[in-house]
Amino acid sequence: MATRCSLDRYTAKRDFGRTTEPPGRRRASRRRAGPPQFVVQKHDATSLHYDFRLEADGVLKSWAVPKGPSLNPADKQLAMPTEDHPLDYATFEGVIPKGQYGAGTVEVWDLGTYQNRTERGGEAVPVEQAVEDGHVSVWLDGHKLHGGFALTRTRAGKKESWLLVKKKDEAARTRTNLLRSRPESVLSGRTVEEIAAQET
Ligand code: MN
Repeated sequence: MATRCSLDRYTAKRDFGRTTEPPGRRRASRRRAGPPQFVVQKHDATSLHYDFRLEADGVLKSWAVPKGPSLNPADKQLAMPTEDHPLDYATFEGVIPKGQYGAGTVEVWDLGTYQNRTERGGEAVPVEQAVEDGHVSVWLDGHKLHGGFALTRTRAGKKESWLLVKKKDEAARTRTNLLRSRPESVLSGRTVEEIAAQET
């Protein structure tokens, strides 16, 4: 369960006098109006990866996906859980300065809303419970990503790891590499290289 302190790790890792990332405030209300948000941030850091985040319980539940999301259901993309992020982080784009945690460039690669479709025994499972349980099924309505995706924990403990997999549905594609064909930010139209050049 996310607690009042679930952003403590986020806050402890960052110096808000140096980074322009948003401070770690948890939204007072558990629910914003309308459907919950998801975001995928391309993060050109020590190694390039894509941060996949789902709004749940007033925060963004987060996974780092080294290869990024795929539209091909045959691709099982490793997803490493990372600390909860504040909801405001969904629209953060910019450069995290050298020497700071996550130093590098962040681009909002996709942004949209999602429907939680996690069920157990025919019963709907709340998304924060689904994350706890290690299986989350969502339907994404983004600018680039659409349709069903599943996140499944494959290893628990210190080296916890998950897989992010596209479900077989009408939005599945086997020959489209969106990471290559649509590299730009859905907020600003810039590539990660353009963000880095303009903001440093
Ligand atoms: Mn990251």
